[in-house]
Amino acid sequence: MSISFSEETSEEIITRSSSLPEDSNEGSLRPRTLTEYIGQEKAKGNLEIFINAAKMRNEPLDHVLLHGPPGLGKTTLAAVIANEMGVNMRITSGPAIEKPGDLVAMLTNLNEGDILFVDEIHRLNRAYEEILYPAMEDYAIDIILGKGPSANSIHLDLPHFTLIGATTRSGQLTAPLRDRFGVSLRLELYTPEELQRIVTRSAGILGVDIEADGAYEIASRSRGTPRIANRLLRRVRDFAQVQSDGVITAEVADAALSRLEVDKLGLDALDRRMLRSIIELYRGGPVGLETLAATINEEAITLEDVYEPYLLQKGFLTRTPRGRCVTRRAYEHLGIAYIGQQEMPLS
Ligand code: ADP
Repeated sequence: MSISFSEETSEEIITRSSSLPEDSNEGSLRPRTLTEYIGQEKAKGNLEIFINAAKMRNEPLDHVLLHGPPGLGKTTLAAVIANEMGVNMRITSGPAIEKPGDLVAMLTNLNEGDILFVDEIHRLNRAYEEILYPAMEDYAIDIILGKGPSANSIHLDLPHFTLIGATTRSGQLTAPLRDRFGVSLRLELYTPEELQRIVTRSAGILGVDIEADGAYEIASRSRGTPRIANRLLRRVRDFAQVQSDGVITAEVADAALSRLEVDKLGLDALDRRMLRSIIELYRGGPVGLETLAATINEEAITLEDVYEPYLLQKGFLTRTPRGRCVTRRAYEHLGIAYIGQQEMPLS
């Protein structure tokens, strides 16, 4: 059996949750306060209490770890926290910290109460993590100057700051680092109703005319992810301008998204390709993550972080100890006759 794959790469796919160049103007759409921040009620409720308590005690907020798939609003929420606390936020990321000096410089440049936001904190070099331990716990760092017998250790006090770490894979954080976060919040995929509110709000900011049904159509095809919802909104706006005097109706949204190969449930060409290859090459599974990744020419991490959360949520895929399996629902969605899960022949 052979399957032909188109040469699409994830960069060309508009329904990827990781940031694309066209998202560079995301800033204007970011909510600034907890009230404006739609959804994530559980995380928001907890944060509200912690923020108010810290403010009442006149202390900085405890260190916060935000985890969840890309595009769900971790950076946005960190900025909202800074805004609600009335402090400044400095932004860096795990891979951007190339040497210990980078981290020391960031820490020593903070002002009292500031927030240091470290995106992709799981990608911070393990050796540099140790600088963070005393910084987070005692607001101090020890710097060793020189080498050998003449080496000197300097103890530097830091201002009381809050570290907010964001990660798509909290499981990859070392236990000592994870334990130093007083607050750990998991962001969940958004419901279509929440995304509808986000799309409507964004349309208002962008000055786009949108009907409630049109917003819902975009929302229900955005993989539970605000970044994708905003991106699809911008794409659909172009179609609307040409086809219906700029008004986004459900029909216009449907026509535009179908043309962009985003199907009724928000699956794109890559999702369908992944499900199809499990069905056609591995008889519906189970197939190991690495094997699957090699088959569809993607990195295993991308499959796990970007494709799977939505497919799992939609019930198209299950994870078993022996690998990934496609469900009956997926067969039905793809219009393939369900033959039941079959074991691969041993020889
Ligand atoms: P992450 O850091 O998790 O990858 P971001 O914080 O960069 O995600 O969010 C991506 C975009 O989605 C932002 O530009 C913001 O406009 C929008 N967004 C995210 N969360 C929300 C929310 N709860 N309400 C409204 N818009 C949101």
